[in-house]
Amino acid sequence: MSEPEVHKATAVVPGVGYGPAVWVHPRPELPTADARIPDTDIELETDRMKTAAKTVADRLAARSEKATGNAAEVLLATSKLTMDRGWQRAAAKAIKQSKPAELAVTEAIGKFVDMFKAAGGVMAERTTDLEDIRDRIIAELRGEDEPGLPVVTAPSILLADDLSPADTATLDPALFVGLATELGGPTSHTAIIARQLGVPCVVAAGPNLRDIAAGQQVLIDGSLGTITVNPAKDVAAEAVAQAQRMAEKIAEWKGPGRTKDGLRVQLLANVGDGDAARIAAEGNVAEGIGLFRTELAFLSAQHEPTVDEQAEVYAKVFRAFPEGKIVVRTLDAGSDKPLVFANQEMEENPALGVRGLRISQAHSGLMEHQLDAIVAAKKIAGRGDDVKTWVMAPMVATLEEAAWFASECRERGLTPGAMVEIPAAALMSHDLMKVLDFVSIGTNDLTQYAMAADRLSPHLAYLTDPWQPAVLRLIDMTCISGASNNVPVGVCGEAAADPLLACVLVGLGVNSLSAASTALAGVGAQLAEVTLAQCKEAARVALNSSTSEKARDGVRRVLNL
Ligand code: PEP
Ligand code: MG
Repeated sequence: MSEPEVHKATAVVPGVGYGPAVWVHPRPELPTADARIPDTDIELETDRMKTAAKTVADRLAARSEKATGNAAEVLLATSKLTMDRGWQRAAAKAIKQSKPAELAVTEAIGKFVDMFKAAGGVMAERTTDLEDIRDRIIAELRGEDEPGLPVVTAPSILLADDLSPADTATLDPALFVGLATELGGPTSHTAIIARQLGVPCVVAAGPNLRDIAAGQQVLIDGSLGTITVNPAKDVAAEAVAQAQRMAEKIAEWKGPGRTKDGLRVQLLANVGDGDAARIAAEGNVAEGIGLFRTELAFLSAQHEPTVDEQAEVYAKVFRAFPEGKIVVRTLDAGSDKPLVFANQEMEENPALGVRGLRISQAHSGLMEHQLDAIVAAKKIAGRGDDVKTWVMAPMVATLEEAAWFASECRERGLTPGAMVEIPAAALMSHDLMKVLDFVSIGTNDLTQYAMAADRLSPHLAYLTDPWQPAVLRLIDMTCISGASNNVPVGVCGEAAADPLLACVLVGLGVNSLSAASTALAGVGAQLAEVTLAQCKEAARVALNSSTSEKARDGVRRVLNL
């Protein structure tokens, strides 16, 4: 039996799925660009293209009639896109230039794909829909099977580069018990429908997903964002059983977050834009926003957005929680999230380079403009002056940085804080808290830097694990500083989405947990099961463990899980 191997991905739908891997049927090979037809065939070829498109559209429409809700809508939308006059006109034109139907369809749809990609954001995620109809039409023209879902007879884990909306919409959650895609994003169709179906799902796993062969046993954890290949059988069985027990409790749980004996723990959402904030508010679990990653709103911006432009974007997030707590993080550009207007120089080691707050040195004005925009956004959203707006800086390493940032915030009536995500900040937390009103621990980077392990590396998942006792000790140090300075300490890294680890964090003294809104009910339901004394004991056991496995096992024992 091979060793378990863990791949990291973006967590989308919480829950655990376990079974043999199956891959979606491959897409057809695209035609070569030099194929030509004789002029006498042009009319026939145009008819062939239109008939194939109509057949595919009818098939999708028929599947839409059998489906319900979101799935039915997606299938119908895909069917309509298949009959769209825009790309069909472009394809007919290409056939007139003697190109065979398959090539004409490929080129015509390719133009629209390029346009959508250039538009970026949500539009770019829709390119999967276009490529999906292209592949179906090409398969139809060639008389091949439609690309897509394989036929399975036992619960399986579905792997794909990116699932087509039509396939995701029709998959049977009793047979496909977990989903992992190489590409995609949290708002792609795969994610939307997996959420509706309640199938544990991770996306954006990267090219390493292809190393997983059909038939290998795979465990998907949609809360942690992990794909474990060949997990030990008992570990997998326990993970599935625990997820089932938890799913029942989550369904019954009602917020707000508190332990069994009534200690309140704020549960907040991590968001990147107004839509995500609205979804979080509608979920009725998040009490506010614990991390607004402002850089995500400007990933495709070529120039620094004006103060007014920024204010409009921030106001959308503020409107979702007019009276609630909102923690805005100033631009964390650089490393895995480069911004064209902020990160100009190529760096050898961007994770250790000019990123986060450090950009302010090279770009005077960037952060000040952002703080002005946050103040303007408060006004636009009608957020009263009595409602505090918390603002924190990413990548703070020194007291000088914290003091400078705090004074810039205070000048504008904003409540200053900092991410504790560099070990230096945890070690200096007592001093930082003399100038800051709050801190939020970014366990993703804190783990990366404490363990010297790239958080994006699929090979180092055993190190990029916030359960590592070294990381827990840095968190503990920060919580001790928080208690002695009466400064609130939150956690906004992925660790906050892990219900078991959440108990440890509360035991260490963390007051608020911020995670993807889909993960919050799971955390809340777990906290409701344990007392503060149990959390403290769990924290003691985890801190004194020699490995992350021992920490997890020890905490499970203490909490009777
Ligand atoms: C973190 O580092 O834990 C964090 C929350 O910030 P990001 O993931 O955006 O770097
Ligand atoms: Mg970070």
